[in-house]
Amino acid sequence: DTLINQIAAGEVIERPASVVKELVENALDAGARRIDIDLEEGGVRLIRIRDDGKGIDPDQLPLAVSRHATSKIASLDDLEGVATLGFRGEALPSIASVSRFALTSRRDGSDRAATLEIDGGRLGEVMPKSHPQGTTVEVRDLFFNVPARRKFLKAERTELGHIEEWLRQLALARPDVELRVSHNGKPSRRWKGEGDLLSEVRLHEALGEEFARNALRIEHEGAGLRLHGWIAQPAYNRASADQQYLYVNGRAVRDRSIAHAIKQAYADVLFHGRQPAYVLFLELDPRRVDVNVHPAKHEVRFRDARLIHDFVYRTLQNALAETRA
Ligand code: ADP
Ligand code: MG
Repeated sequence: DTLINQIAAGEVIERPASVVKELVENALDAGARRIDIDLEEGGVRLIRIRDDGKGIDPDQLPLAVSRHATSKIASLDDLEGVATLGFRGEALPSIASVSRFALTSRRDGSDRAATLEIDGGRLGEVMPKSHPQGTTVEVRDLFFNVPARRKFLKAERTELGHIEEWLRQLALARPDVELRVSHNGKPSRRWKGEGDLLSEVRLHEALGEEFARNALRIEHEGAGLRLHGWIAQPAYNRASADQQYLYVNGRAVRDRSIAHAIKQAYADVLFHGRQPAYVLFLELDPRRVDVNVHPAKHEVRFRDARLIHDFVYRTLQNALAETRA
């Protein structure tokens, strides 16, 4: 089983940032309001994610780390309208097969906390351990038992950069959650919990003063679609392709068709081909979008892609044109 898990890990777990992503998404799925992320050596030596979510019962710990055990889906029907972030039940067993792993948790309303260690896929026993409500996952020495993969890890700075970029992408989408990050024992970043809508403050923290000052707020609904967020006005001239954040139902995605619609709306107002900069959220009935395209889940497939393209294009074109009037 360890081998199967390691193969699965090869698909989903590329580097420390992928581990952070999977664990933080689990914390969010568990309803966490605050997540602490402690890293050492760019996450290669240590990734520790602690949340205040609903937690896991001691007797459920072995299940949580076993393959294809997910508490988030009861039937194939659920797969259709999946609302949670993870749903494959692969992340924990995969990560645990390529690291020194510990899962510690206390369920809400319970007075018993416990821990389960897994060393390179070798399952230990559930042991009592004190822990506040919520869950801590500790991942040490990533790929210690898979030298071929470990070899491909980059310098500490690079791996940390990937983690920070992913956290920025998350911080933009989840202004309601507090995130506290430390690296090599020093606090490195703190995103305070705010409301549900991305504020100018967090936008500023994430993408800089210049972007925030030139950002135009977008909020538009129609045809069962809602587009909201921020787009930089043409006066902002530091835009680059890495300041393009698009979320569909809260998930960061890359989508050619929507990217094209945004670029087109921008070009109409600007009359030349500069890159747009934006943080935009598209919300729609989950049944109108297929997120189950790839395990890494960056891509989605829309049932009515043309309609969505036109909706995004028109919304932004109108908003941008108004600023010129
Ligand atoms: P998935 O997220 O696809 O269900 P995972 O392997 O990531 O699969 O997690 C397996 C299960 O472990 C989850 O379905 C959930 O029940 C439990 N779990 C994992 N992380 C947490 C957490 N931080 N808080 C509460 N439960 C968790
Ligand atoms: Mg998961």
